[in-house]
Amino acid sequence: MTEKILEDSNPVHMSESVEDNDESILRSALEGMSDELLTVSHRIHERPETRFQEFFAADLLASALREAGFAVESGIGGLETSFRAEASFGEGGPTIAFVCEYDALEKIGHGCGHNIIATVGLGGALVTKHLMEQDGSLSGRIVVIGTPGEEGGGGKAYMVKAGCFDDLDAALMIHPGGENLSAMSTLGRVAMTFEFTGKAAHAAVNPELGVNALDASVLTLNAIGLLRQQLPNSARVHAVIEDGGEVPNIIPERSFIRVFVRAPETEMLLNNLIPRITDCARGAALATGCVVDIDLPTPVYAALNSNPVLGRLIEANFARLGRNTVPLLTEAFPGSTDMGNVSQIIPVIHPNVELQPGVNMHSHEATELAGGSSGDKAALDGALLLALTAAQLFRSPELLAEVKEAFVPGIRVPARISNLKDLRGLI
Ligand SMILES: [Zn+2]
Ligand SMILES: [Zn+2]
Repeated sequence: MTEKILEDSNPVHMSESVEDNDESILRSALEGMSDELLTVSHRIHERPETRFQEFFAADLLASALREAGFAVESGIGGLETSFRAEASFGEGGPTIAFVCEYDALEKIGHGCGHNIIATVGLGGALVTKHLMEQDGSLSGRIVVIGTPGEEGGGGKAYMVKAGCFDDLDAALMIHPGGENLSAMSTLGRVAMTFEFTGKAAHAAVNPELGVNALDASVLTLNAIGLLRQQLPNSARVHAVIEDGGEVPNIIPERSFIRVFVRAPETEMLLNNLIPRITDCARGAALATGCVVDIDLPTPVYAALNSNPVLGRLIEANFARLGRNTVPLLTEAFPGSTDMGNVSQIIPVIHPNVELQPGVNMHSHEATELAGGSSGDKAALDGALLLALTAAQLFRSPELLAEVKEAFVPGIRVPARISNLKDLRGLI
């Protein structure tokens, strides 16, 4: 009777718990391949490759997956250093993807720990495959998507556009960081450039003949500064003047500014902020008599929306591993990731696994940690966390249905917005 009451009073908990047998199979499989996985992590770490140059890392991961029996296709979505690996089991069932990143930062190497993300995706997929082979009752497809150029290149934006994520039921990845965090949201980001063209003239002798392009940049930054009063607290706008003229006695005929605009809702970012920032530059051009050329040189990073049901599952799995999570942030983390673009079209999870408490990512310190023992622990724990979560999804169609029900479709952001007409067509 007591058991019955407990069961009835906590049905969600019962359906979400990882089967003990699954956990022990996943744990022992991971133990058996941990040396191999850490070798992959270290080799990627030792040979940092920046955006879209990750030939060594992509090949290493693809080879390991091919050897393990996955069907691998390299160079998907028009990106040479991307790949997709797939293993199918039985009839029907869900398609669950592990997402790998493996690009490094200029000068700093793997200070964002993407060698760990790569190893988590590889390890998660390999041990889940092992579980599926052990248990013939499980069916579905395990997919690994290799996504290059996260740091500034927006690789996933191109891959979203090419449909690389369209047949997936959910995509899982974990990022190393300063704490264990079961779910995070990030700001969407648009990078813009404004190039002003004026007319050179002797600044002292014939100032009336000149059209001052530097003034247009200064006015733009001032207008953006005033606009901040009307922006939501969560928005971020930051800019630099890259070219403001050469010498004081020549009126600058060219100036060039780069602006990043960020906001937690992609729609607000594209619909509201970008047109208003653009108008700041247009107004400055009008006031100074310059011509302004506006460009969006890199893909838009959409805001990251973590699926709340996947977040709940992974929160419980962090606890199973004895990793204490910090409370969820009430506001979006003010950085950006191209996983945001994926989160607009399918359910995703992008939690944080602690590398070292409070570590400052994108630093030499983080690079060292990512290649050391705490990076190894984060990689192996991350692989287990994702594999436990994937196993739950393969085992429970009800749970996957709940994940899908909680998914709110967003904007399919184009990979490249080359002019504002494209942007207006979108919104
Ligand atoms: Zn980073
Ligand atoms: Zn990163």
